[in-house]
Parts: sequence; structure tokens; C-alpha cells
Amino acid sequence: MKINVIGAGLAGSEAAYFLASHGVEVFLYDQKPTLGPAFHEPDKCGELVCSNSLKSVQKDNASGLLKAEMQEMGSLVMEAAYKYRLPSGQDLAVDREAFSAYITEKIKANPLIHRISARVDALEEKEDVINLVCTGPLTEAGLMDYFKSKYGAEFLSFFDAAAPLVYFDSLDISKMYFKSRYDKGEGKYLNVPLNQEQYYSFAKNLASAQKVELHDFDHFEGCLPVETMAERGIETLRFGPLKPKGLSTDTIHPFAVVQLRQDDVAGSLYNLVGFQTNLTYPEQRRVLSSLPGFEKVRFARYGLMHRNSYLNAPSLLSPDLSLKNSPNTFIGGQFSGVEGYVESASSGLLAAYYILQRVRNKPFNPLPIHTMLGSLINYLLSSSPKRFAPMNACYGIYQYPFVEDKEAVYNNSIEAVKGWVKENS
Ligand SMILES: Cc1cc2nc3c(=O)[nH]c(=O)nc-3n(C[C@H](O)[C@H](O)[C@H](O)COP(=O)(O)OP(=O)(O)OC[C@H]3O[C@@H](n4cnc5c(N)ncnc54)[C@H](O)[C@@H]3O)c2cc1C
Repeated sequence: MKINVIGAGLAGSEAAYFLASHGVEVFLYDQKPTLGPAFHEPDKCGELVCSNSLKSVQKDNASGLLKAEMQEMGSLVMEAAYKYRLPSGQDLAVDREAFSAYITEKIKANPLIHRISARVDALEEKEDVINLVCTGPLTEAGLMDYFKSKYGAEFLSFFDAAAPLVYFDSLDISKMYFKSRYDKGEGKYLNVPLNQEQYYSFAKNLASAQKVELHDFDHFEGCLPVETMAERGIETLRFGPLKPKGLSTDTIHPFAVVQLRQDDVAGSLYNLVGFQTNLTYPEQRRVLSSLPGFEKVRFARYGLMHRNSYLNAPSLLSPDLSLKNSPNTFIGGQFSGVEGYVESASSGLLAAYYILQRVRNKPFNPLPIHTMLGSLINYLLSSSPKRFAPMNACYGIYQYPFVEDKEAVYNNSIEAVKGWVKENS
């Protein structure tokens, strides 16, 4: 079998290194030039495109658990991150230059990894070739067109904004009520009623909050960030996502309404309807916690805005992260529908384990579902294809009955990963 890994970002670097460390020859493609002019930045594998934080390392934090699982799985990204960790409290912030340089050196030094500087616009589809596509949220147009022509545009998603996702148990629902607009449809919406004074104060707060600076980025009129709507006029939101029409009850006649929609089967996560936002994370926390019932809100995912191309995983992916219609094509990283640095790296690493099983002619042996990574992949596979959006590690999707007991969750997950790694190394 010939193994091509396309994309030497976090996911592709993890995968290539893992496979090569297990004796498998890998052809690692990336569009970045290996030998640029001297005044160019030397190319890097595993580059951190924005923040230098890989989030929490706390044992009782979902991202912390995911990191611990990756360490058990032999993650190169974790090795580099801990080696170049900066003082950052409970977070794993890294020296980004040293972090990427370390990953690049490890890859360069491995004789089984052949780096090829080329943009891949079509996959080498042969019976004896396995492709692992880890081209990330900014996958180049040519490869996007290739997937489009193979699977249809509807199987590729692209958003410029996502609304925040909050934990149901962090909301004070005594200040809210369940109702769908005009009592129509199946939607089980949770409504936050605002009176005139509360609405104006909230709208002003939103309009003046601090945003992330974006370059070369246009958004569609149909998908404007809430803060942009608020800037356009104090009443705009009341005729947009906060419109109160059809949401009155016998006793409640709101001036405006913030709606939340259930986001997972368990009902532990709710998203804020129409609240795509480009505010900085601290500002999202500050502004949203001023809403009634949001005083102690916890976020499973903040709202975000960046180009993000990803496959419709629930429609297209098999449990081993290969494509249902093309079993020799595996998908890893953000392109597979996960969100975040650590999540992307971990899904690339898992895809590499599954490729190793295939190369060794072993039967498919999935990572146990009662682990953070197993639960994350389960979310990709079992979500509704109609409303699928990338997800990061959080306890809302964790498949374990005693999720309140974080210590038990941690210990059980790590034991499960250890056992599985032993069977698969
Ligand atoms: C602007 C932006 C900011 C982000 N900020 C954060 C953040 O702060 N924190 C966080 O946790 N997550 C962030 N993310 C989300 C995500 O975690 C990162 O994008 C992460 O790098 C994804 O890892 P990956 O390995 O899937 O893809 P990438 O790290 O993007 O790697 C993909 C690689 O594939 C190469 N490539 C693409 N197309 C081709 C092709 N056709 N042929 C050959 N090579 C190709 C690229 O050059 C790149 O090296 C951000 C995403 C974006 C777009």
C-alpha cells in the first residue's frame, strides 16, 4: 500500500509521524514550498494559524481530557506543546515558533516520510493507494472542486459564522420559557423574554462590544453577525433574530426575545438562534451574561467567524474515518468536521491508527466511545446531516453515564485509551 497524507498542518503532521513511527512509508504533501527564497519564512509543519493556546490542561475539562488521551496515543503535537509550553496557568499556551519548528524537525528527520511540496487538486485513486486528506478549513479551491464533483456541493459545507453554544445546566431557566413560534413545528425552543429597557441596554451593549479584526473577509447579508445588526440601528434586532412575534403566552408579552435551540440529543447543549458573532471571546461572555438567566452561563463553544470548509461528516464518513463511497480515502483534521487545534490534531492521529489497522490487515477496531475522542467522532457520525456544524471537545457530547463525576470520567477514559493503544501499536 502507498500512503499519501495531504496537508502538513496539525492533523497531517500527527498522522504522518505516527505512521512512519510504526514503520509505514508516507508521502506527505503540502502546498507550502519546502525551498522558498532565503527571505521567506522557512516552511513549517503543524503551524498554529491564530492563537498560541491549546486550551485547558485541567483534568476536569473536556479539552484537558482530550489532551491526556492524545498523550496516551503518542501524539507528536502534545510532545511539542509540552516541550515548548509557556507559563499560562491552566492553559497549554506554547511558543508557536519553537512548537512548529520541533514538529517540522521530527518529520524531516524521519526517513520514512517523504515531503512533497505540491498543491493537490485530485487524489491518486488506486486500489493500492490510501489517501488521508488533512487539508484543513482553508482547503484549496482545486481540491474542493474535486470533492464537489465527486460528492455534490451539498456535502461540503462552508460557513462564515457560527453561534455560541451553551450548557443548559448553566442557565437559570426560571427566567425563560419553552415555546416555538406560533406553537408551530417540532422545535423545542427556550425563550429569554426581554422588556423594553432590557432590550435597549442589550442592543447597545452588543453594538459597542469589541470585535476580532478580520482581513479579506466579507460576510453574506443573510448571515450578518448580531453586533453588525445592532450597529445598523437600535431596532434592527427586534425585527431580526430577537423578534417577539408569535412568542407571547397568556402571561408573557415580551418586547424582544432571545431564542435558544436544543443542539444535542441529551438536551445538554443549546445554541443561540441567529447569534453568529465576531465578538472576542471575553466580550461574548461579558455581553451574553448580561441576559436574564445567563448570569452563570458556561460556553461549550463560542461564536466564531472564519472561512471553514468541511465535509458533511454524518453523510459521508464511515466509523473508521474513511469515505463511505471511497474506502481508501480517509479524512482527518478540521476538514472532517471537528473544530479546534487539539481536536484537529487528534482526529488526524486517530485516522492514522485506523490506516495502520488497514495496512496490517487487521479488522477495524474502533476507539472506545466512552473517551473524549471517541465521543467527538461519534458526534460527527451521528449528528443530523441537515444541521451539521463543526464541534469541539466538550462534555455535552461525552458518551458516559456519570459525566458529573469528572474524576471517574477522566480515569475511565484514560484506561480505555491505554487498553486500546496497546491493542493497536
Ligand atoms: C483563520 C483561522 C483561525 C483559527 N484560529 C484557531 C484558534 O485560535 N484556535 C483553535 O483551536 N483553532 C483555530 N482555528 C481552527 C483550526 O483549529 C485550525 O484551522 C487548525 O489548524 C486545523 O488543523 P488542520 O490540520 O485540520 O488544518 P491546517 O492546520 O490548516 O493544515 C492544513 C494544511 O493543508 C495544506 N493544504 C490545504 N489545501 C491543500 C492542497 N490542496 N494541497 C496541498 N496542501 C494543502 C495547507 O497548506 C496546510 O498546511 C482557526 C482556523 C482559521 C481558518
